[in-house]
Amino acid sequence: MIIHSAEAQQASFFTYHGGARKILVVNDGEVPYDNACFAPGVARSALSKIRNTTEHFRLPHNILVLRSGDRTVLMDAGNGHNSGGLLTANLQTAGIQPQEVTDIVLTHAHPDHICGLVQADRQLVFPAATIHLSCEEYTFWQSAAPDFSRSKEATAVLSAMQQEIRTILTSTESRLQLFSGSTPLFDFLKPVAAAGHTPGHYMFEIQSEDKSFMHMGDICHDDQVLFRHPDWGTVFDIDFMQAAQVRVAVLRQMALSGQLVFGYHLPWPGFGQVVADGEAFRWVPEINC
Ligand SMILES: [Zn+2]
Repeated sequence: MIIHSAEAQQASFFTYHGGARKILVVNDGEVPYDNACFAPGVARSALSKIRNTTEHFRLPHNILVLRSGDRTVLMDAGNGHNSGGLLTANLQTAGIQPQEVTDIVLTHAHPDHICGLVQADRQLVFPAATIHLSCEEYTFWQSAAPDFSRSKEATAVLSAMQQEIRTILTSTESRLQLFSGSTPLFDFLKPVAAAGHTPGHYMFEIQSEDKSFMHMGDICHDDQVLFRHPDWGTVFDIDFMQAAQVRVAVLRQMALSGQLVFGYHLPWPGFGQVVADGEAFRWVPEINC
């Protein structure tokens, strides 16, 4: 594999070559979040030892694009007409038109991953694309009364978010294809269940030449706090405790394997490795940009 570091300086897209399979990262922009969203229940004085708590967290949206044969696959769809939402423009800068996208694989159905599927008038942004979502995720958000009791977010906030998600799932219903388990979606993309952040949250193992790397989805939302304290979590976790347990287990396994990892919200362009650091972990970016 060759990483073109010069291209990493570009804000719109990043080219990562994997032989015959072309791999890109397209920048959907970033969204600021109040630091209260992170480490809920943890004293801000403790959090301030790791980061400046007077500043918002700024979460990038890194959209992995896999081109193989006649397939063009997006991993998640970004924030759409909400803040960020640069995916379509930056895809076109990378030479990819929306109608060329054949598949969109969703790690989960949080708005910052699915709003980019539809325009403000609910028309499909990628009209030819099949949208792959886990069965568990679809069932949870479409249920009449999802169980939010294990989240640290206010129920009113979660209920409003559910409505937003349901609107998008309804708008895209004709293109949705549900999956479950670890059966590969394509010969280069294998789902790995990682419930907790949401009930149907999945990671994906991506085959590139003779190696593979892991798209970790939303296992970690930043490169500092959740690596140092995986148990501190976020208000975005639907099952806070399960998300923390899965985060620790995944980071431990990644540190052991030393494999290349990709993160949707990790610093642009999102590639790196997880390294064990005592009982905690560190994120080591593949390139600094
Ligand atoms: Zn997210």
